[in-house]
Amino acid sequence: MSRLYIPPTCPPTPPTGYLDQWIPLTPIEEMEKTDYDVLIIGTGAGGSAVLWRLCEQLVASGKRIGIIEAGDLLLPMHAQNLPTINVERYVQLFTNPKISIPIGKGIPDFPAATLLYALGGRTLFWSGVSPRMHPSVLSKWPLSLKEMNYYYNIAEEVMNVSRDYTKGSSITEVLVNRLRRGGFIEAAGFPLAVDLAQTKYGRIHSNVFFSAMDLFAYSLNRRSFDLAVNARAVKVLHENGKAVGVEVMNPDKKSFFLKSRNVVFSAGALDTPQILLHSGIQGRAIGHYLTNHSFLMAHGVLDRADFSELLGTLGILIPQTNEQPFQIQLYGPGVDFWYSYEEPPLRKELEVRFEGFGIVESRFENQVYLNPNIRDEYGVPKIQIDFSYSEKDKEIIDRVAQGIKQVSEVIKAPLITRNGQYDLCLMPAGQDNHVSGTCRMSLDSYDGATNPYGEVFGVTGLFVADNSMLPPMGASNPTLSTIALAIRTADYIMTKL
Ligand SMILES: Cc1cc2nc3c(=O)[nH]c(=O)nc-3n(C[C@H](O)[C@H](O)[C@H](O)COP(=O)(O)OP(=O)(O)OC[C@H]3O[C@@H](n4cnc5c(N)ncnc54)[C@H](O)[C@@H]3O)c2cc1C
Repeated sequence: MSRLYIPPTCPPTPPTGYLDQWIPLTPIEEMEKTDYDVLIIGTGAGGSAVLWRLCEQLVASGKRIGIIEAGDLLLPMHAQNLPTINVERYVQLFTNPKISIPIGKGIPDFPAATLLYALGGRTLFWSGVSPRMHPSVLSKWPLSLKEMNYYYNIAEEVMNVSRDYTKGSSITEVLVNRLRRGGFIEAAGFPLAVDLAQTKYGRIHSNVFFSAMDLFAYSLNRRSFDLAVNARAVKVLHENGKAVGVEVMNPDKKSFFLKSRNVVFSAGALDTPQILLHSGIQGRAIGHYLTNHSFLMAHGVLDRADFSELLGTLGILIPQTNEQPFQIQLYGPGVDFWYSYEEPPLRKELEVRFEGFGIVESRFENQVYLNPNIRDEYGVPKIQIDFSYSEKDKEIIDRVAQGIKQVSEVIKAPLITRNGQYDLCLMPAGQDNHVSGTCRMSLDSYDGATNPYGEVFGVTGLFVADNSMLPPMGASNPTLSTIALAIRTADYIMTKL
């Protein structure tokens, strides 16, 4: 008889703890027990970039880093990466009043202002167009072009910015050629924040469109940090000109006091000045110099026969130049700029969407301020906004409109007309989602809220790293610059730790 060998039963695997969600969270009660070296408020573009840089650079240090978010967990990645989302469901999710608060309804000067509260902020839904600012704009910023380019390089790398998304698309290539021949010599495919690498050798690349969640993912795999959601900062705590922490409330309106010797506000260009003003932070420029882009939209139609069988996708940026104080973006065909599981129908005519962004002057009188008579559910005064376009802004709006008409002629996509009028309109203020400048950096506290590293004048250890710190931004989309500057602010904080 042969002898059978039955090996011993494998020992049970010891439990390693459980994860309730797709990202580790720390209860706010626990965070209250820690003395942080850096505490970040807000998890959108600016906040996640500060977190990433600190985690990258402080891998082996014992420094304690915390980050809090007013909203809840919503999506583990950019909405466009989710297989169940299409254009229609994307809009329905983005505009859900549970996360998107249309505060502009109570603000006549800025009627399209919307706040979005969720882990990842507006980067969960942004379009990813990521140009650098024009050199004439950067030359007025309080840092050298060389240094800005250094941080642009880092930001573009971590965000995967490239022009590859539309490369090889006949519709983009034909129209870029028409534009260049027609005088728009700088027209090119979008610089887009997309990861187009192939999934290979076990390394997954399913996270195509960039969002703050990519920076959270990198950070998590570098070192530990504490993250709390549903934790709304209501006040900065400061003593003798130094930041010492933040008062935070949970949805039950219970207060918690988080201690930190460096506090970074990345709550967005409307919430950040709100909390600084409510905290009694003094500064002539806080809340002022609110800047956005005048935003014009139009639609035109191309002849399908002008393009080859393999049409591809249309994404063209006509950037600001010395002569042209605006930027135009072309999207198409129709709504098929991105799609995953649906089959785009064969179309006889191809619709192009024109989006024009005009420079808006940075003026003191355009401001966000507290309305002492109306408080939100957390007891913080609600914001009001004074905003108007200057005569110069209006001239530029006229030039954007002319520019769109000219582009439509050059690319042979006549603008659609409705009731005999061109379908070309100026979107209500705030619709561009590019609001910025409300805590802008400057060499001088007279016309800036922070120094060139984002540290608030007069309060050591209190920083701003989001769209509100941007100086005048010209006509380019802001987020790449915000992320580049947030990385720089993190570097500066590290020199002090
Ligand atoms: C549909 C859409 C398309 C866009 N397309 C582009 C584009 O193509 N290119 C481009 O450059 N930009 C684009 N943008 C704009 C871009 O999303 C913003 O510029 C960028 O997200 C701003 O970063 P931020 O850090 O200032 O704010 P946000 O990303 O909005 O992050 C702010 C975070 O702070 C949190 N928060 C607010 N108040 C508090 C508080 N009191 N306590 C704690 N947390 C708080 C919020 O919940 C949020 O998570 C687009 C935006 C939208 C909505």
